Amino acid sequence: MILILKPNISLESREYKRLEGHLQNLTNIEYRIHNVQGAEQTLTEIYLIGSTSALSLDEMRSFQAVDKAVRISQEYKVLGRHKDDSRSSGFSYNGVDFTQDNLNVFAGLCAVDSPESVEAMMSALKDHGQVCTRMGAYKPRTSAYSFQGHGKNCLPYVFELAGKYGIKVIAMEVTHESHVDEINSALDQTGRPTGVMLQIGTRNTQNFELLKSVGRQQEFPVLLKRGFGITLDESLHAAEYLASEGNQKVVFGLRGMKTNIGDPHRNMVDFAHVPVVKRLTRMPVCIDPSHSVGARFRSPDNILDVMNVTAQGVIAGANMILVDFHPDPNVALVDGPQALRMEELPTFLEDVRIVREAFEKRVDLFK
Ligand code: PEP
Ligand code: MN
Repeated sequence: MILILKPNISLESREYKRLEGHLQNLTNIEYRIHNVQGAEQTLTEIYLIGSTSALSLDEMRSFQAVDKAVRISQEYKVLGRHKDDSRSSGFSYNGVDFTQDNLNVFAGLCAVDSPESVEAMMSALKDHGQVCTRMGAYKPRTSAYSFQGHGKNCLPYVFELAGKYGIKVIAMEVTHESHVDEINSALDQTGRPTGVMLQIGTRNTQNFELLKSVGRQQEFPVLLKRGFGITLDESLHAAEYLASEGNQKVVFGLRGMKTNIGDPHRNMVDFAHVPVVKRLTRMPVCIDPSHSVGARFRSPDNILDVMNVTAQGVIAGANMILVDFHPDPNVALVDGPQALRMEELPTFLEDVRIVREAFEKRVDLFK
């Protein structure tokens, strides 16, 4: 059961103390308090765990401190969408909204290789009105001998250039909790010119200790990629690790599944799950067409597969697109073969705009 308290209620108030006294006396029930920081108000949610079936919703609602009480109908306690659950989806971060009702494009470098590539990318984004990007500094690679990313050394110039070109949010993978500290220090050192969305990659979807430590911090939102060889349910449970530790600012990322059945694509495209994740949870849903397709295949009508699968995700209501670009894919140090080229950015964005408009018309049709 979730108790949503009246907005901005103090945990020192008499109303809250009365509720707290009641909760402490319940047998076989534990509770956890979560603070959800919104743009205008702070909401306190109390998660009751244990034998809650005997508790009465009406009794809980009768406490003055309680605004709403919701019975949890399924397993994703914090991020799940429960019956009669009117809690909003998503969050705002550094002036950008992430919800199940909007769409943000994160076009950028799979891996940061040089300040020149970063600058070329960010300046193209600015020219096209974009305020988000992806920049990989810590790269988990199959081979121990492949380029592992420039790590903390590239962060100062990445953040400074982001400030210069008005980038507000950078999606950046972390593979160890120390990377979060390195990102924080580099942001401090550069005067916090931008924001970072911590990305947890498909190889770490079930790295529970990483999830817990990233979940304990509430400064940065998180993009959790679906595990490439586990069920959707298992990946959604992984997202819940972040939220149960206190960080509810989570975007769920689809990036294709590892199976040869998807050949010739690098992964089996799974964007039919966009509406499924939106139905089961309140998380905004991201698609990654680049890592799904993994190459620059082109259909007879001259449309790249990367763009076709992007359209599939967007027509189904995706809320974020993470897509690889590079000014010169031939020299990219990671994933050059799947990168779009800078001159393809306007067409890509226009295609996304057309399909998003079609999605919105579909929503109106079914209203
Ligand atoms: C990436 O986005 O750079 C990446 C490595 O993705 P994934 O974890 O989905 O393979
Ligand atoms: Mn990659």
